[in-house]
Amino acid sequence: MKKVVKFGGSSLASAEQFKKVGAIIKSDESRVYVVPSAPGKRFSDDTKVTDMLLHVYETAKAGNDFTEEVKAIKARYDEIITGLEIKDFSLDKDFEEITKQLEDLTNPDPMCTLDYVASRGEFLNGKIMAAYLGFEFIDAAEVIFFNAEGNLNSYKTEKVLGERLSKAQHAVVPGFYGLGKDGKVKTFSRGGSDVTGSIVAQASRADVYENWTDVSGFLVADPRIVPDPKPIKYITYRELRELSYMGASVLHEDAIFPVRHCGIPINIRNTNAPEDAGTWIVESTCQKQDYVVTGIAGKKDFCTIFITKAMMNSEIGFGRKVLQAFEENDISFEHMPSGIDTMTIVVHADEFVHKEQRVISAIHRLAEPDSVEIESGLALIAVVGRGMKSASGTAGKLFSALAKEGINIKMIDQGSSELNIIIGVKNSDFDTAIKAIYNTFITDK
Ligand code: ASP
Repeated sequence: MKKVVKFGGSSLASAEQFKKVGAIIKSDESRVYVVPSAPGKRFSDDTKVTDMLLHVYETAKAGNDFTEEVKAIKARYDEIITGLEIKDFSLDKDFEEITKQLEDLTNPDPMCTLDYVASRGEFLNGKIMAAYLGFEFIDAAEVIFFNAEGNLNSYKTEKVLGERLSKAQHAVVPGFYGLGKDGKVKTFSRGGSDVTGSIVAQASRADVYENWTDVSGFLVADPRIVPDPKPIKYITYRELRELSYMGASVLHEDAIFPVRHCGIPINIRNTNAPEDAGTWIVESTCQKQDYVVTGIAGKKDFCTIFITKAMMNSEIGFGRKVLQAFEENDISFEHMPSGIDTMTIVVHADEFVHKEQRVISAIHRLAEPDSVEIESGLALIAVVGRGMKSASGTAGKLFSALAKEGINIKMIDQGSSELNIIIGVKNSDFDTAIKAIYNTFITDK
């Protein structure tokens, strides 16, 4: 059994948190490869080290004095090193190098980049982690590669990283960055250590990818709306994708692909409650589900564009022409329910509002409809569950739950995969609708 364990920023924000992490790793000898984030927040108003680094980069680039900022960052690490009582270890040399790089920023053509500076959060934390655990340190810039387009070069990464790991019994690979095609450090997008963890799990052909954070996995609904929602024990990659798209976030979206590709399950765990089983994200499972619905998530602020045209049903190519109007304006659409002579396009308000008149005129020009009407203030709710396929009456239960609360359903969309039902309600009904759905499928099951 081989496990890759990734720890998020809050799990590594202080010496005290580091000790919990150390105990977790040592308690299971199959936890052989560790991927750390940079130190995160110690308390709610604290600043993440990554944000401190992004700031010091701006200060140095503007030619301002950055000495105090570097000192504050170094103090975060020194506090951890001292608290852990690591003997004969210091990051002084590394900070000298970072300072030199920051000084270089005022040159006309500096070598130093924003990504390099941002990546130092993980780099330094990885060094501490390796020294604390007595594991080998592997710089991610030597084993994770990006291609010229800035995407992961999975072929080269899998080969180089796989070979390197096969020679290391225990290792720490810092998260969040790798090497760009130009030979400079390149980071993933924010929260990208999750992606590194997944890549390390894939390259080492691990049995499990454990992702340790500060919550005990996914919850069936947003706890800001439903008090004390049930945890999700098992969720499939596909269900997770549907829920993440609708705003449920614990894991970086791109973290799914590398492990999914080789069927490695992800186990989301809580560093502050290691006894909790957390959530298992799997390809497929025959574990008995407690509920038909796995998760409920949603987003507010969508707009609908309602188009009518007599005999629309027999006009071949009408849908394409309408969608072309959105494509021309670089807007992606979310849903497209239709009737015989009507069609509705659902888009996110952020993308649409400032382009609305351009889109309407494009629809008129391309599709010659009878009328186009816009409505805003729509919230979409996704009710997701692999169990819905074999359970009859799910839609009926869902609609009567909403009717009981006097909520008008403005839109319904269910794909033939039967993995999810999307409903549209007024923004103002959003919270009530989610609570009603939760109560029907979970509380009153
Ligand atoms: N430290 C980076 C961030 O704050 C990456 C990570 O934590 O995953 O986004």
